[in-house]
Amino acid sequence: MDGAPLYLRPRLEPPLAALLEAGPFLHSLADALGSPLNVLLPDVVAENAARFRAVYRRHHLTGRVYFAHKANRSSALLRRLAAEESRSVGVDVASTGELQHALSCGFTGDRVMATGPKDAGFLWLAARVGATVNLDSLGELEQLASLVRGHGMERVEVLVRLSGFESDSVSDGAGTRMLSRRSRFGTPVRDVDALWKALERHADAVELIGAAYHLDTTGAEEKARALERCVLLLDDCRARGLTPRAVDIGGGFGVGYLADADEWERWTTALSEAVLGERAPLTWRGHGYGLRNEGGTVRGTAALYPAHRTTAGPGYLDELLSRPAPVLGRPPATLLLEHLHDLHIEPGRALVDQCGLSLARVLEVSTAGDEPARHLVRLGMNAGDVSLEEHGVLVDPVLIPREGPQEPEQTGPVGVHLVGNLCLEADLITRRTVFLPRLPRAGDLLAFANTAGYAMDFRAHHAQRQPAARTVAVHKDGATWRWCPDEDYWPTTHPQGAPS
Ligand SMILES: *Cc1c(COP(=O)(O)O)cnc(C)c1O
Repeated sequence: MDGAPLYLRPRLEPPLAALLEAGPFLHSLADALGSPLNVLLPDVVAENAARFRAVYRRHHLTGRVYFAHKANRSSALLRRLAAEESRSVGVDVASTGELQHALSCGFTGDRVMATGPKDAGFLWLAARVGATVNLDSLGELEQLASLVRGHGMERVEVLVRLSGFESDSVSDGAGTRMLSRRSRFGTPVRDVDALWKALERHADAVELIGAAYHLDTTGAEEKARALERCVLLLDDCRARGLTPRAVDIGGGFGVGYLADADEWERWTTALSEAVLGERAPLTWRGHGYGLRNEGGTVRGTAALYPAHRTTAGPGYLDELLSRPAPVLGRPPATLLLEHLHDLHIEPGRALVDQCGLSLARVLEVSTAGDEPARHLVRLGMNAGDVSLEEHGVLVDPVLIPREGPQEPEQTGPVGVHLVGNLCLEADLITRRTVFLPRLPRAGDLLAFANTAGYAMDFRAHHAQRQPAARTVAVHKDGATWRWCPDEDYWPTTHPQGAPS
């Protein structure tokens, strides 16, 4: 078993899978536009939004899906979403630059949710265009109220972001009490009284429309608790004469990156064995991803994204809405309906699932004579261009041969190390030994699938003046793939892209 290739093959759904089979098209794009290159499928983001909407319909809920812009900088994705039904789809912006970009892509201010900590310029522009302001703190509320008055602006709709739900301890199922992770953002629940008082005081400038949270966790239990808590807190608000009508549960619905649960299981088991020295290392210099050997026992927690998921994205939302909430014992969907609350969500990663890939040219393949032989594959990209590793996402790239069928002498799976184009020992695309169906050759492409969420441009930089990836939007026109630069994409570009 020790020598068998430990694949972590990507989960690929139809348009992305078909794109990966269009080898000559991808090679011609990389020939013309260079390596690295990001390729986006804007229609998929709209399909994902529709899947989230279907969950709303199933639970008879109203409210909006706000795309968390920070997951990807693309204009094509934003414009494609702007073409969707305005009551259903909005955008969550966390900086003045993102707000300006959203407005320029066709979102009207009333479809924008401004989140994160904000400076005066961001608050002013958000208020001016009639965005909903998701208030991060009491200080931000004071600042917004004085801006609205000082500039004679219309009353601004606000949500209050809450945090510190950890005053409730959560059981992990094994009887251990764990506290949910503390967030730097939002107002701690224990301080809400001061917040309600300030909202009453500033009622001429701001109108409270609801409560919000964003928990950076995959734990549905913790999220269900927070949701229920928000509903209960909004009851207190109503008793004070405020008129909230929405709960915004943030993002974090997740993506399943891997096709096969067994491959994930096998790899993580092998990592523990390697950390214990029971098998050859699976990684560069025996890196353990946070696991260590303490006297023959594996300790620590692997800092890895749960890359194989049985439920993620819209399915995760469905599950969250359906499971009975801890205090009142009824599902969150029922609670929201009973209270006539809108449900807002802010998916980032999950909304751009299957929306694109990142291409890298193989520049050189070298084999060191160590025992066993070590193959280094040098790519025309660096770790900043495909920050899967940075986010703990482990998934194999897909080999796209330069041309024609594979030559027979080249067949057979092989473990390689993927190194980047920076003169840095640390510039590894991943510290994992990656198994490919055969040894690549210079000129081949490696395609990292499903990189649109955070991996594509979140960490991209200009170190050593290496070229930054260009981004293109593609679609299939009959049997032909067509493309345009990201910045030139408009939803009118092709009829299939029109809103359904
Ligand atoms: C990052 C972020 C999101 C999106 O999170 P995902 O895990 O990508 O869904 C949503 N809301 C807020 C406030 C965020 O900071």
